[in-house]
Amino acid sequence: MAEKINCAVIGAGVIGLAIARRLALEGREVVILEAEAAFGTHTSSRNSEVIHAGIYYPTDSLKARLCVAGRLALYRYCADHDVNHKRIGKLVVATDHDQIAALNKYREQAEINGVCDLRMLSGREVAELEPAIRGVAGFLSPSTGIIDSHGLMLAFLGDAEAHGAALALASPVVSGAVAHDGIMLDVGGKEAVSIVCNSAVNAAGLGAQSVARSIAGIPAVTIPPAHYAIGHYYTLAGKAPFQRLIYPVARQDWLGVHVTVDLGGQVKFGPDFGWIERIDYRFDESREAAFYEAIRRYYPGLKKGALQPGYTGIRPKIAGPGAPAADFLIQGPREHGVKGLVNLYGIESPGLTASPAIADHVADLLKN
Ligand SMILES: Cc1cc2nc3c(=O)[nH]c(=O)nc-3n(C[C@H](O)[C@H](O)[C@H](O)COP(=O)(O)OP(=O)(O)OC[C@H]3O[C@@H](n4cnc5c(N)ncnc54)[C@H](O)[C@@H]3O)c2cc1C
Repeated sequence: MAEKINCAVIGAGVIGLAIARRLALEGREVVILEAEAAFGTHTSSRNSEVIHAGIYYPTDSLKARLCVAGRLALYRYCADHDVNHKRIGKLVVATDHDQIAALNKYREQAEINGVCDLRMLSGREVAELEPAIRGVAGFLSPSTGIIDSHGLMLAFLGDAEAHGAALALASPVVSGAVAHDGIMLDVGGKEAVSIVCNSAVNAAGLGAQSVARSIAGIPAVTIPPAHYAIGHYYTLAGKAPFQRLIYPVARQDWLGVHVTVDLGGQVKFGPDFGWIERIDYRFDESREAAFYEAIRRYYPGLKKGALQPGYTGIRPKIAGPGAPAADFLIQGPREHGVKGLVNLYGIESPGLTASPAIADHVADLLKN
């Protein structure tokens, strides 16, 4: 006999935990099913830990709307729940005059997205703010910040549990079916069980497509392809030469090798961008020369031997090589026809920032 519950959230990354919290606060009975033996071991702990302002994303995209709303909610949430964070600001620098037009375009897009606090800077002003940086112009985004992503997940989980949610670790969803009385999920692990739930949220990140494919009754045409793009981070030995986050002018598919200063004062450079065939976090040290070259364009003082291999993260992409960047894809019953089900695909950056707003969006989809 399958156990009956109200709501299952598949995946305990920052997105699943934010959603579980939101649904538990509504008074729903929530069980979070996580394949690994701990929460947040994949993309949610392998990222830049930046609270993005919402500058670049296309007008009215989910990324634009949920990033801006999520950022506002996240700063409030962090303050109320003592989650370690800092609004340190971000400097975007043009290293040659050809890039200045791109800076102006960003500002226009930022204003359309509701980010109206960018301050345009001359080369001299860039040098005054960050003397180690070389740039001919730039802008400052004062509302960009950094966050302890593990602390955030812990706070979301604590809130969810305080409202009755339960986290089941080492509990991978291996298959399932859309049934007449709800959605049936077969959960593997040491003690395999089947559960039937009124609602299910597939927040399995890099595994979201395979979870959806394993549930009979979800129309295959609604499941996007899964592509993976790895990003490497190098750390900088010694004291931070910058006070803020530093970004070069972005490329089409990613923000470029940027500087993140974490809450412990450690400087990280990255991520770079490379398509990969399967989920494999191994660090490819042959990337080093390309990092030195990219970083020295805006930080010429980078000394030989200063970079140490850090870690990697993998972007859950739904658009492959050569295709334009895709928006978040969040499907409710209207899109796939299954009552009580929400699938989240392609929740790459700025997913961490957007997490509280994504949770609200999912809660709304489940009401319809
Ligand atoms: C390199 C990089 C840098 C980034 N930088 C930033 C940034 O600075 N700021 C920002 O806002 N965003 C950033 N992001 C995006 C952000 O990290 C992600 O949007 C967010 O972490 C996604 O969270 P998630 O919960 O969807 O995925 P995950 O954290 O991957 O969680 C999914 C969970 O589902 C579980 N799972 C998978 N399959 C199953 C199954 N069958 N059954 C049960 N559980 C399953 C996994 O074990 C995992 O724990 C970055 C992303 C990358 C890759």
